[in-house]
Amino acid sequence: MKILVAVKRVLDYNVKARVNADGTGIDLANVKMSMNPFDEIAVEEALRIKEAGKADEVIAVSMGVKQSQETIRTALAMGADRGILVETDNELQPLAIAKLLAAIAAREEPGLVIVGKQAIDDDSNQTGQMFAALMDWPQATFASKVDIDGDSMKVTREVDGGLESIQVSLPALITTDLRLNEPRYAKLPNIMKAKKKQLDVLTPEELEVDISPRLVTVKVEEPPTRKAGEIVGSVAELVDKLRNEAKVI
Ligand code: AMP
Repeated sequence: MKILVAVKRVLDYNVKARVNADGTGIDLANVKMSMNPFDEIAVEEALRIKEAGKADEVIAVSMGVKQSQETIRTALAMGADRGILVETDNELQPLAIAKLLAAIAAREEPGLVIVGKQAIDDDSNQTGQMFAALMDWPQATFASKVDIDGDSMKVTREVDGGLESIQVSLPALITTDLRLNEPRYAKLPNIMKAKKKQLDVLTPEELEVDISPRLVTVKVEEPPTRKAGEIVGSVAELVDKLRNEAKVI
């Protein structure tokens, strides 16, 4: 069985996002970019499934600008077998990503596709669900445990107020939740080896996918800055301020 894993290049989670000058998006010039954290979990899970002898090949797929190759190389250094980049400088929204992923799935015929539950830049939480719908596959979203058994799998899902276990038949889609696993770090020799692994570059046109955006970003704003706190001298003063200034009691 092949496993396709989607890996997105995003603003590193340690970097504070800054809105660009014209308020249309985030300023990505000269900032550190990394693999979306939920996608690291997706790669790790695919590798563990392969190491357990339940898959033969892990393919890391990314869509976007040329530099997304670095994100694929990270997945290859973690242990993925080969990579595919669908290269474009155009904006890609979740439906376009889902269609591109579906076109690659049609070529590669994987038994499992694993994506992150959300990309930390757009926070859409849509791609996996749209992909499953396009493929007419079962979907196991927000997975915190995956057990593959022959041609089906049991997935534990993180739902409000508890855990839900579902059984789905393969091929299927998984979206990863934070507690699914702890991703490994790529070791230096593996980073070197990853440079030689196969990485194919395709275009949306070759895959015959229409990637035109469906949504227009109207405005992006910084959150309002918080006012400085104030130290009060007594409980009576605190109560007075809460009652007469903040008017919350
Ligand atoms: P989203 O629906 O945008 O929150 O993204 C959910 C997941 O879809 C991400 O965690 C990735 O696994 C995958 N994904 C989204 N955009 C891309 C992209 N440009 N390249 C590869 N994978 C992506």
